[in-house]
Amino acid sequence: MQQEVLCVAFESIVGKQNCITDPEIIKTYLEDWRGIHVGFTPIVLLPNSTQSIAQIMKICFDNDIGVTPQGGNTSLCGANIPHSTKDRLEIVINSSKMNQILELDTHNQSLIVQSGCILSTIQAIAEDKGLFFPLSMGAEGSCQIGGNISTNAGGVNVLKYGMVREQIMGLEVVLPDGTIFSDLKGLRKDNTGYDLKQLFIGAEGTLGFITAVCLKLFSQPMSYSSALVAVENPFMALELLKKGKAFFGENLTGFELMSSSCIQAVEKYLPSCKIPLSSLYPWHILIEVGNITTDQNNDERMVVFLEKALADTLITDGIVANSMQERKDFWRIRHAIPEAEKYTGPAIYHDISVPISKIPELIEQSIAELEQYIGKSTVFAFGHVGDGNLHFTKGKPASMDKTQFLNETANVHRIVHEVAVQLGGSFSAEHGIGTKLKNELEHFSDPVKLELLRTIKNSIDPKNIMNPHKLIG
Ligand SMILES: Cc1cc2nc3c(=O)[nH]c(=O)nc-3n(C[C@H](O)[C@H](O)[C@H](O)COP(=O)(O)OP(=O)(O)OC[C@H]3O[C@@H](n4cnc5c(N)ncnc54)[C@H](O)[C@@H]3O)c2cc1C
Repeated sequence: MQQEVLCVAFESIVGKQNCITDPEIIKTYLEDWRGIHVGFTPIVLLPNSTQSIAQIMKICFDNDIGVTPQGGNTSLCGANIPHSTKDRLEIVINSSKMNQILELDTHNQSLIVQSGCILSTIQAIAEDKGLFFPLSMGAEGSCQIGGNISTNAGGVNVLKYGMVREQIMGLEVVLPDGTIFSDLKGLRKDNTGYDLKQLFIGAEGTLGFITAVCLKLFSQPMSYSSALVAVENPFMALELLKKGKAFFGENLTGFELMSSSCIQAVEKYLPSCKIPLSSLYPWHILIEVGNITTDQNNDERMVVFLEKALADTLITDGIVANSMQERKDFWRIRHAIPEAEKYTGPAIYHDISVPISKIPELIEQSIAELEQYIGKSTVFAFGHVGDGNLHFTKGKPASMDKTQFLNETANVHRIVHEVAVQLGGSFSAEHGIGTKLKNELEHFSDPVKLELLRTIKNSIDPKNIMNPHKLIG
């Protein structure tokens, strides 16, 4: 089908204004968040209903047109980028207009929404009813729940609530041929064969287009006790984490480690974030406890915990948030790190995980091996250490020029990923594979796993319509 004819067909489904073909406007749909992965498409569609997406998918299936599902475009691995070529047209279906709240059941503690709802909107809707949706991350003001589910996002509350996979009760998905798989039940128990929704969670849009979701909500913590502390090294951080788990039990919800390089980058490039402890301390940790009471004693318990840690020389300094605003200011520092990193110049990024006990070795070995391979430079290490997940970024050595350094990206990745895997970890903790880590998936995966991934992809999407070139496609 010719492109003009195709556009007429698409316009009849989504309306002229929601079928974008202007190259200037389309530019904003062609990059991932860091602008490292850039692609091309001549058509971006903005449908607002499941039926519209089903009709679009049917046309694409019949005409062998690739489809890249898109949410808020905050991917950090190029998973959201179309790669249309003269040999095969690939269009974008962006879910920004799929933003309706469909059903809130406070007894069942469940919320059904369309997949284009922004994460922070979902959090606010739950909070308004005294409930809690725990997924939280720096991108929450722009990422969408469909994107979160498709990347099986983690974020800052995994310690207590798990990855997004554990917060999904039901999904509605349009399959590559346009049929609709509807499993939008709000059930905590449903043993009726394979749990098919799990296939689409973390699939990076390679199996179908998620159109709606039933989310599991939780009771809202009554208050928070948050602290920013300084530690000498990651070993101390692990000890503190162990003691924190013993002291606060299940209520410990966040434990985020940040190297001084991260804190100093935030201080320098985003000065509206005030850093309450000296940025010269080698490591900062943001600790958070979600309390089940509003009792004054909660903060006192945090103080008791920190005083003991200070006496045991586990921490060198610390400050407890005195108000909700101070708590938010602490989190602003943590969430500002990815943006601050962007301003520090060329860098090579990793999102790796290991068993929690191996975090110090992961950091030490990766730094040492990279220094040997490519030279000394600033390393930014931060992340959800309570989950064994580290974001590890190697800056450009002063002696190298930018192109020379970036040409080493694949080799630098391999060195860091080998360290993680040898320590029993993963080369992709929470950001996914996209195009960035396809080679690594091939390299590190058990052949049986690769075969199973391909079998699943081929049986659901035999024409490789859905997000081709990503993950296993
Ligand atoms: C500042 C910052 C902080 C971040 N922090 C975290 C963090 O703490 N934890 C974490 O896990 N991630 C984090 N991320 C990355 C994370 O992957 C995304 O923020 C988010 O989950 C992606 O949502 P999105 O709507 O932007 O999806 P997009 O970037 O648009 O797409 C991501 C993937 O999902 C697919 N997709 C999108 N919508 C659909 C749909 N409706 N149906 C099927 N497939 C779809 C796309 O094809 C693509 O493969 C961060 C990103 C940034 C920029």
